[in-house]
Amino acid sequence: VQSEPSRTADVAPPEGAGIGVELLCVVRAVLKKIKRRVLVGDKVLVGSIDWVDRRGMIENVFQRSSEILDPPMANVDHFLVLFSLEQPRLEPFALTRFLVEAESAGIPLTLALNKSELVDDETLVGWKSRLQSWGYEPVFCSVDTKSGLDALAFILKDQTTVIVGPSGVGKSSLINTLRSSHHASDAKEGDNWFDPILGSKWFEEQRIGEVSTRSGRGKHTTRHVSLLPLSGGGYLADTPGFNQPSLMKVTKQSLAQAFPEIRKVLIDNEPTKCSFNNCLHLGEPGCVVKGEWERYPYYFQLLDEIKIREEFQ
Ligand code: GDP
Ligand code: ZN
Repeated sequence: VQSEPSRTADVAPPEGAGIGVELLCVVRAVLKKIKRRVLVGDKVLVGSIDWVDRRGMIENVFQRSSEILDPPMANVDHFLVLFSLEQPRLEPFALTRFLVEAESAGIPLTLALNKSELVDDETLVGWKSRLQSWGYEPVFCSVDTKSGLDALAFILKDQTTVIVGPSGVGKSSLINTLRSSHHASDAKEGDNWFDPILGSKWFEEQRIGEVSTRSGRGKHTTRHVSLLPLSGGGYLADTPGFNQPSLMKVTKQSLAQAFPEIRKVLIDNEPTKCSFNNCLHLGEPGCVVKGEWERYPYYFQLLDEIKIREEFQ
C-alpha cells in the first residue's frame, strides 16, 4: 500500500490494496522503537518510494487478520498439512502432531496426502475412511502424476496458505509445480497495482526475476519464509526449516479443541457438558468424552508431553 505517512495505521488496509511491485524496504525507526515487528505476510504502508532503485520505507503495519508463531507470519488464512502415503510412509502419530499444531492456530486447514501413485486403491480407501473418522476429508494427490493437483489449486485460490509437513513428503515439489504451471499468468494488467512510471515494464521483469530466486529457497538451515504468488490470486508460503511442530501454543486445556473427535462429542452432547469445567477427558466422573476413538492414545500422549513442558516453564 503506497500512501502518505500516517501515524495511526491501526486499521484495516484499504480494499484492493496494491500488490505486485517489489520494493526493498527499510522499517521506520519509530516502529522498531515501539517493538512493532514486521512479519512476512504483513500489509504495510510504504512511503518515501524511490522508483528508480525500487526502495521504500515501511511507515506502518496494518491490522492483522491472524498471526502465527511458527513460522512467524501475519495474515495467514489457511494451512495445508502435507504428508506422503509412502516414502516416507504416513505415520498417524506424526500426522496428529502436525494437525494439532495447525488446529491450534485457529486457522482452517486442508489435509493433503501426496505420492498417491505409490499405493494401491485399497490403501487409499483405507486411509480415507480412517481419516474421516478423525474428522478430516483428505485430498489425495501426486506431484509426479499430477493427479489431484487441480483440486488442490482450487482450494488454494485466493488464500494465503502455509504448507507444513515433514521433510521429504513433496512440499517443494508441490510448490514448484503449482507455480510453474501458472507461471505465464502470474502478472495480469488490471489485476495488479500499476506502476505509473515504469509502466508495464515490471511485468516482464517480474516474470524473469521470480520472487523465489532471490528469496534464498533451498537454504534449509536459514528458516527463511517467503510468499510465492499463485495465479488467480493467493499466495503459498514456503517455509523450509519449519518442519517440526513445536506445540508451544497448545495448553493442557486447549489440546482437546485441536481434536475434531472431541469437539464433535462435546457439540453432539450439548447442552450436557462434562461435569468439571476444566475436564481433560481422561475418565473423570461425568465426562461425556468416551475413550473409544482411535486417536485417544495420541491425545493422552500429547497431553503428557504438554504437562511436562508446562511444569518446566
Ligand atoms: P519436501 O522436503 O517436503 O520439500 O519434499 P521434496 O519436494 O524435496 O520431495 C522429496 C522427494 O519426493 C523428491 O525426490 C521428490 O522428487 C519426491 N516426490 C515429490 N512428489 C512425489 C510424488 O508425487 N510421487 C513420488 N513418487 N515422489 C515424489
Ligand atoms: Zn470431559
